[in-house]
Amino acid sequence: MTDERCHCGQPLHYTNPEIRTVVDRLIAAAGSRFVPIISDGRAWYVDRHYIALHGIATADLPALGFRELFVCPSCRRVSFNPTDLRERYCGACHTWVQ
Ligand SMILES: [Zn+2]
Ligand SMILES: [Zn+2]
Repeated sequence: MTDERCHCGQPLHYTNPEIRTVVDRLIAAAGSRFVPIISDGRAWYVDRHYIALHGIATADLPALGFRELFVCPSCRRVSFNPTDLRERYCGACHTWVQ
C-alpha cells in the first residue's frame, strides 16, 4: 500500500507516523476510508487521510472534488446512490424532494 495517495494528489504526506497509524486503525475499524461530512444541507464523501492531513473547512467542501452525496432535506438521511442525488429522491421518505 505504498502508492496510496491523499485526495490532494500527493502520496500520503504524514509528517508524524503515529498519526498515520491512528488514522489507519480508524479506517480499519470503520471499514471505510471515506466518511460522509454534512454541511449546509449537502454532503460529501471525504477521505479520512485528507481530513487528518489538511483538516476540513466545510465552506471549502464544494470545491474540493469529493463525491457528493444526497441528503434528504426533510429526514436528513444520507444516500450514497448517485441517482438519488441526481433526481433528489429520498428512499426513506419514498418521494422526490425540492
Ligand atoms: Zn494531501
Ligand atoms: Zn427523506
